[in-house]
Amino acid sequence: MLQQTRVEAVIPYFLAFLAKFPTAAHLAAASEAEVLTAWAGLGYYSRARNLRSAAGILAADAPVSWEACMKLPGVGPYTAAALASISLGAVRAAVDGNVMRVVSRLTNDPSEISAPLTKRRFAEVAQTLLAPLRPGDFNQAMMELGATVCLPTKPRCLLCPVQKFCAAHSAGTQGSLPVKLGKVPARRLDLDLLVCWWEGRVGLVRRSAAESRLAGFWELPQKPADDVPAGSFQAEFTHQIVNDRFRVRVWVDESESRPGFSGACQWFSPAELVAIPVTTIARKALTATTGGKLMYPRGKRSRSVTQGV
Ligand code: SF4
Repeated sequence: MLQQTRVEAVIPYFLAFLAKFPTAAHLAAASEAEVLTAWAGLGYYSRARNLRSAAGILAADAPVSWEACMKLPGVGPYTAAALASISLGAVRAAVDGNVMRVVSRLTNDPSEISAPLTKRRFAEVAQTLLAPLRPGDFNQAMMELGATVCLPTKPRCLLCPVQKFCAAHSAGTQGSLPVKLGKVPARRLDLDLLVCWWEGRVGLVRRSAAESRLAGFWELPQKPADDVPAGSFQAEFTHQIVNDRFRVRVWVDESESRPGFSGACQWFSPAELVAIPVTTIARKALTATTGGKLMYPRGKRSRSVTQGV
């Protein structure tokens, strides 16, 4: 329940869930609808389905190792290490973001924390620190230390039980660790699109199957830079794709005199549009230039659209 969800939000659900399904056998015997109903409000419903499936496995044949825990539905290395160390005494460090932060400070390591090599090294350090006789207690202590004492922005070093082992505290660098590279600023790009109408149909071009992004989707043609006449400017909005921030200007041409486009475009009626994959930018543009009458059946309308000038 705690994956992607805050502890305070989880507590009432956790208590009600355990009251309804006190053992793995109770959970395994429940219908999926019952489990989803008890989970309603927590979101990420695949977790509930995985938990019920895992309960079926646990009720029949409880896992006896970290490797067996890894085979439970929805369980990755961190959860498997937590389960196996706490319930089976397996000597496995459970390493989440909190523990990574603690390790970066204990070792005063300025490596970029999201780099795969850094993650691997910090996980190895956590494994060497692990108390082999009490791995479950150690993992819970590390989680708790990261969550309540070694906080991201203001570590509470004066209260910290491991202060005397902490290299960052000795060096006074705890405030600058772990190192996270700042986000690369978004690229700003201009995009001028043409909405061309011909006999009640709009012209779209298909993205090539070789495109790395949105291959095979349909999009509006771009307005040629030397396009005269240019159609009429109708709308402007912004749209971000990963790190590219587009300023999209939409021009509408209803002159039905664009032989240049007839080869590149295919023409679709409004009814046909809902049955083909259309890019979000094209959907926004069609929505903006038809007053919302066309497109966006599957999503909400963009708030950033500036209607026609
Ligand atoms: S001494 Fe401070 S920086 Fe070091 S582990 Fe404790 S809380 Fe974190």
